[in-house]
Amino acid sequence: MKICMNETVTIKQLADRFQLSERLLKDSNPSLQNEQIPEGAIIEIPGWRGVNSSSSIGKFINIADIKKVEPITKPVIQPKRHYHFQSLVNDIGTLKAFYPFMKERIIGYSVLGNPLIELIIGCGPKKVHMNGSFHANEWITSAIMMKWLNDYLRKLVLNEYFSSKPVREFYENITLSYVPMVNPDGINLVLGSHETDVEIRKQAIQLNGGSTDFSNWKSNVRGVDLNNQYPAFWEIEKRRKPQKTPSPRDYPGDRPLSEPEAMAMAELAKRSLFDIILAFHTQGEEIYWGYLNYEPEVSELIVKDYERASGYKAVQTIDSHAGFRDWFIKEFRKPGFTVELGAGTNPLPLSQFDEIDRKANGIFWTTLFHFS
Ligand SMILES: [Zn+2]
Repeated sequence: MKICMNETVTIKQLADRFQLSERLLKDSNPSLQNEQIPEGAIIEIPGWRGVNSSSSIGKFINIADIKKVEPITKPVIQPKRHYHFQSLVNDIGTLKAFYPFMKERIIGYSVLGNPLIELIIGCGPKKVHMNGSFHANEWITSAIMMKWLNDYLRKLVLNEYFSSKPVREFYENITLSYVPMVNPDGINLVLGSHETDVEIRKQAIQLNGGSTDFSNWKSNVRGVDLNNQYPAFWEIEKRRKPQKTPSPRDYPGDRPLSEPEAMAMAELAKRSLFDIILAFHTQGEEIYWGYLNYEPEVSELIVKDYERASGYKAVQTIDSHAGFRDWFIKEFRKPGFTVELGAGTNPLPLSQFDEIDRKANGIFWTTLFHFS
């Protein structure tokens, strides 16, 4: 919510009035340079809204009327739905309006020119990265991630605790990099969104054996499996995968990082020097944590915490190469995890959303706890 100041106050005074940290207030108002906020200034108050309106985006409330506003205690987005690219864009817009301390950055563009969006929460020295929907028919991972993100933002404003730590410590100590949808074109194809280019869609139908049922489609829109694109023994996958041409799944491409989505994620990882990455996939209720013994020792400790938090099963090695996580571990020797959310057959139905959330949200929180 925006308020118009009718008196001059300090940042600390204003933060105290709304029970916010000065950090959240400053990060929501990057133009605030001085400790004094002058009369007449328009200030964003994250996580608060006017009582009498369901949405107070853009609404101006005089600070003298402070009793007429309240902190938001419920989710502001409802991501439990078929989650295509536009759903993501809409929900990011809503979250940014209520929690303007969340930053958004475009790290690249998909084949069809959709922006690949990174959300950044917090300002700490530890760099934590999470991503979802490398695979098109695993789009439920994007929806789940957005649910967790909304929970995190809300708890930050409300100064809640996870285990023994105030959530605000996570914000101070961690920069969270969040890419909820690596493969927007593929998802739009699977969900039958009309944004897909007509010619490209025709070609995709051809690759799909003439079928318009894309529910088994994992690749990007031109038939390359984005999680088989990374230079970590890519040649092995190239040689042994039966798919020798673009396909709904498993085709590693003509060369590593041939696809803009895969390249954008590699560039992001190189630039950001993450301390840990998590890649959310479906399904199996398993967590892969090793890669050819390149992983650091701490990975095993972390995955034990994940097991305890979720009931999912830790698996050290699988016979697979060229994934984003494989490459990350090999390249940077830092902990990387693939979390296979849910159980059943892809695409998992929305009826699994609540159970996935209940079991696996502890993985999200444990990661922040561990690194703060
Ligand atoms: Zn997957």
